[in-house]
Amino acid sequence: MENLEKILADFEAGLKNLKSEREVFDFEKRYLGRKDGIITNLFSEIANLSIDEKRELGSKLNEIKKRIKVLLKQKKSSVSKIEIEIDEDAPEIKSGFGSFHPLTIIKKELAEVFSSMGFDIVEGFEVANDYYNFGALNFPEDHPARDMQDAYYISGSKDQLLRAHTSTMQVFTFENEIPPVRKIAMGKCFRRDETDATHEHTFWQIEGFAVDENITSGNLKFTLNEMFKKILEKEDVNVRFRPSYFPFVEPGYEVDSTCTFCGGKGCRICKNTGWIEWGGAGMIHPNVLEKQNIDSKKFRGFAFGFGIERMAMIKFGIKEIRNFHSGDLRFLGV
Ligand SMILES: [Zn+2]
Repeated sequence: MENLEKILADFEAGLKNLKSEREVFDFEKRYLGRKDGIITNLFSEIANLSIDEKRELGSKLNEIKKRIKVLLKQKKSSVSKIEIEIDEDAPEIKSGFGSFHPLTIIKKELAEVFSSMGFDIVEGFEVANDYYNFGALNFPEDHPARDMQDAYYISGSKDQLLRAHTSTMQVFTFENEIPPVRKIAMGKCFRRDETDATHEHTFWQIEGFAVDENITSGNLKFTLNEMFKKILEKEDVNVRFRPSYFPFVEPGYEVDSTCTFCGGKGCRICKNTGWIEWGGAGMIHPNVLEKQNIDSKKFRGFAFGFGIERMAMIKFGIKEIRNFHSGDLRFLGV
């Protein structure tokens, strides 16, 4: 009997500390649960007692059980209920699977196709001096690209600038390695172009170059053809060179590929010409090689430079270059 009073006292003390419906529920289970409830177990135990003891303890136990039920009911109505507030006007949060950024997709494809042709992949530095950007690459002193209006110079410096192209990696390579070399460099470049739908001050470029004995424009054409096949995912792509001028190549070319979107018939992407313009290329100027003590009679090389955003714009039909670095998730389709 004393034991029963103690159980009730413990119950009442414990009940006071409960603060939520969940706690009350668990507490109720501990005392009245069908399996191992404290009170439930006592009912099973008195089944083994004599008839008199059973009667006495049984009625006391029933009283306690009733009392516990009443107290639980009171407690349930007093504990604070957790209310979930729903703001009907809040915008719907959509979650989805992540996806690769279009530039990442192109960079992966470029890395794959050039690795398969034996090119090393390098990155290089985003800040370089005038020599690596221009001087070593045969830019004349008065070339407009050296103008403060065209490049971002580090404040207080007339020599240090954010690289205007990844061609700086040619110089770093020729300083440190003896031909034959095959490299691609992919990285950010910076120019103070006026920003519009197809020009940004920050953009990604792929620079590729190979120097060896007997390198010709034919090797360049084959290499670029392999690249276009990979990016455009078509086997029948042709490459066309148009003569052009870049200080660090001779001869220099503008590089076009056949338009795989219309099969050469003319469409919006190729501006009805049947050809897509991609970027510049050429045979490395002998002055560039000689400056690094590479014998230009023995070694020849090709080089090319393409904007990676432009590749992604053509491949995925993206019209606005500023989307790439805007951080707008709608652009990524997430
Ligand atoms: Zn076309």
